Amino acid sequence: MNLNEFIRDIPDFPEQGIVFKDITPLMGNPVALQAVQEGLLDLLQGLKIDKVVGMESRGFFLGPALAMHLNAGFVPLRKPGKLPHTTLKQAYGLEYGKDVLEMHTDAIEKGERVLIHDDVLATGGTAEAACKLVEQAGGVVVQCNFLIELDFLKGRERISAYSVQSLLHY
Ligand code: IMP
Repeated sequence: MNLNEFIRDIPDFPEQGIVFKDITPLMGNPVALQAVQEGLLDLLQGLKIDKVVGMESRGFFLGPALAMHLNAGFVPLRKPGKLPHTTLKQAYGLEYGKDVLEMHTDAIEKGERVLIHDDVLATGGTAEAACKLVEQAGGVVVQCNFLIELDFLKGRERISAYSVQSLLHY
């Protein structure tokens, strides 16, 4: 099955000059969704994972499903002010704009093995911030895994200290 057929380019979203990869057609197709989940799990090659960390908001689409298949917990990373308990914070630069990610202070225990998951790896700023949050908490980043990698933005160079795996490349 060609999963690329379920990914739609949206020009000038959310800003002029950005071509946004819209994965909602893929999420809406049961066969494609199953194939994506299997593909992302295959990238892990049996590695043991204690927690899957997903970034707001599209890291929440597949992160919990991956966690359930791995018998792992799921940890949401959120934009500032959204998490109710005490948080660790990490500022980062985006493909479009700047932001801060937060994670609950008790979300990850020292030594836990963590899979970082998001829909798209662009410049790598978000993933880098996620890795730093996990490490602040004493976790070990086992892999960063993405549905889509925008190769031309060279995000994997920014997180070259980690194992980076993506299902689809553009
Ligand atoms: P980065 O920090 O530049 O790597 O950007 C990655 C973050 O921005 C991820 O959380 C993505 O969800 C989001 N993102 C960047 N470009 C796109 C896109 O084309 N489609 C969907 N999300 C994107």
